[in-house]
Amino acid sequence: MKIAIDGPAGAGKSAAAKAIAKKLGFIYVDTGALYRGIGLYVLRKGAKPSSIEEVVPLLAEIKIEMRHTDGEQHIFLNGEDVSGLIRTESVSAAASDVSAIPAVRDFLFDMQRDIAEKNNVVMDGRDIGTVVLPDAELKLFLTAKPEVRARRRVLQLAEKGIEANYDDVLADVIQRDYNDSHRDFRPLKLAEDGIMMDNTEIPLEETIEKIISLVKERMA
Ligand code: C5P
Repeated sequence: MKIAIDGPAGAGKSAAAKAIAKKLGFIYVDTGALYRGIGLYVLRKGAKPSSIEEVVPLLAEIKIEMRHTDGEQHIFLNGEDVSGLIRTESVSAAASDVSAIPAVRDFLFDMQRDIAEKNNVVMDGRDIGTVVLPDAELKLFLTAKPEVRARRRVLQLAEKGIEANYDDVLADVIQRDYNDSHRDFRPLKLAEDGIMMDNTEIPLEETIEKIISLVKERMA
């Protein structure tokens, strides 16, 4: 079974996907981490993440791997575990820039398909229900107001020991929303048969419960 959860940054996708995966024994796949891995590599090389000319030649040097241990996803960039290093604001912005490049999206496509073919997955991202898993049994689009998402993001980062300024995070969230939904190639949007869930006014736990009951309905 494949469950696709798309939506903007900080909407609670990863918390929801993780909880659902745990409850159902599925694998949680955080596809944003793949784009972040590429963003990190590009920054390390001193290249400009928005430049097709600079980024595309670097793809041949990149090997990205996802490994799952005890329900946690780890991302390896050319053999190095970069799971912690990809969570900074500069890598977020670089990931958003590189993700607009079609060659980058193609580069990561097979890998995402492959893992979904071999496992029951809950996959979160921006184009999962529309492009990567158009055959998913359940497609959700999770969203909330930018201010709520920025506040959650600050808390999330604090839990990881990363201190972030609310205004900076809000600016980043708004910028990434714009980039992700306005890029020409495979932008963030609701799948035709997707379900929109706005959790601005609803605690995330309630949204998770609702998703689990939807999954159970589809499984029955
Ligand atoms: O989900 P996360 O915030 O970690 O994603 C980082 C960036 O990667 C997003 O802002 C988006 O530009 C890009 N992304 C994407 N498609 C996906 C997942 C992430 O374009 N499926």
